[in-house]
Amino acid sequence: MAQSVLILGGGIIGLSCALEATGLGFRVTVVEESGFGGQATGAAAGMLAPFSENPDGFDPFFRLCLDSFMQYPEWVREIEEISGERVELSASGSLNVAFHEADMLPMQTRLQWQRPYCAQMEWLDESRLHSVEPRISRKAIGALYCPAESHVFAPKLAIAAEEACRRAGVRLVPHAGPLSKLEVTKASGVSVTMGDAQTWRADRLVVCTGAWSGFLQEWIRVGVPVHPIRGQICAYDAGLGEVRHMVFSSQAYWVRKDDGTIVCGASEDVAGFDRSVTAQGIERLTRWSGRVFSFLEGKTPVRSWAGLRPATLDGRPLIGEVPGCPEVIVAAGHYRNGILLSPATASMVGRLLLAKTDSQGNAFSLERFNRTAEKERSR
Ligand SMILES: Cc1cc2nc3c(=O)[nH]c(=O)nc-3n(C[C@H](O)[C@H](O)[C@H](O)COP(=O)(O)OP(=O)(O)OC[C@H]3O[C@@H](n4cnc5c(N)ncnc54)[C@H](O)[C@@H]3O)c2cc1C
Repeated sequence: MAQSVLILGGGIIGLSCALEATGLGFRVTVVEESGFGGQATGAAAGMLAPFSENPDGFDPFFRLCLDSFMQYPEWVREIEEISGERVELSASGSLNVAFHEADMLPMQTRLQWQRPYCAQMEWLDESRLHSVEPRISRKAIGALYCPAESHVFAPKLAIAAEEACRRAGVRLVPHAGPLSKLEVTKASGVSVTMGDAQTWRADRLVVCTGAWSGFLQEWIRVGVPVHPIRGQICAYDAGLGEVRHMVFSSQAYWVRKDDGTIVCGASEDVAGFDRSVTAQGIERLTRWSGRVFSFLEGKTPVRSWAGLRPATLDGRPLIGEVPGCPEVIVAAGHYRNGILLSPATASMVGRLLLAKTDSQGNAFSLERFNRTAEKERSR
């Protein structure tokens, strides 16, 4: 009989891993504490921006982002085909806008090292910038243009991924309540109890619980250093004016969505697990909106919301087996790029489930925090 896989957490990472695992022939169950669609996932702006998100230089994280980005069109096509839902993948391209000469040098350095991976990337001077993005502030003096970058509508991606999982035969268990017990034994695999009601058993467990993933430490005594960073974000009525590209400034970004809004994000607050929206958080976004697009000056967003990004100590995700406990795989800590990184994460988890690779040597494994883990175990 096929091996069974239990996935904890029904955000985009859990759903992507579930779809991959079921495609590889595993019997898959996803158990979600509340509703499917995730917490950070539903809040995300949905930008697929491997170049804009990696300004500093080539490293394994950039390679992971790029790899995931390359997989995206085919991955989305499959999800749309299986689910019958649309995720609104939009090849808008992006502009990283400079307002001062001091902004230009790092962007031009970026252009040098990134162009081999994106041949169409180029520097736009002031007049070309204003011709491709006519409503941007006249104070903008140039921009790094990346025609390849794109975006999806994250809440729709989550709906489509959930439906694709259902149709592909994944067992989906929403509103399972809080985790009350987790046991791992070499002989009988993994056993997870939610609330005081139901227990699920499986050969392997994949933990995809986003910002809440630190809970694992209580049950397996291995530190999983993930913490929440709140992102506050808002949306304007797109009827106010035109935004053609994903536009990044040093303080905020703007992206037009097919639902008739311009989404503007996002704060990065340390606020524990508090998901409330604050006047201060949104005020910073509205102030910058007016500076970058004058038609947004003084306008009130039609909606504002917040989500908790799952952050790690080094800003890179955790994708790998728990040291000394190969029955448990962690796929969490995707911070600002979990939507982008979903296909690549699912592929990595699939390879781990097939035991085609182990976590050691993988730049995203828990091994890099191993010293912490070992210390925790010996307590
Ligand atoms: C404002 C904002 C903007 C963003 N913009 C972008 C963007 O443009 N591009 C991009 O790539 N990324 C973006 N991100 C980041 C992205 O949203 C996250 O990295 C990604 O959604 C993480 O997905 P996840 O499935 O790990 O977490 P989540 O979506 O948070 O899902 C985790 C799930 O686990 C469940 N859970 C928790 N504990 C348990 C338990 N014990 N048992 C069972 N279930 C449990 C939760 O209920 C939740 O449903 C943004 C995030 C925010 C907040």
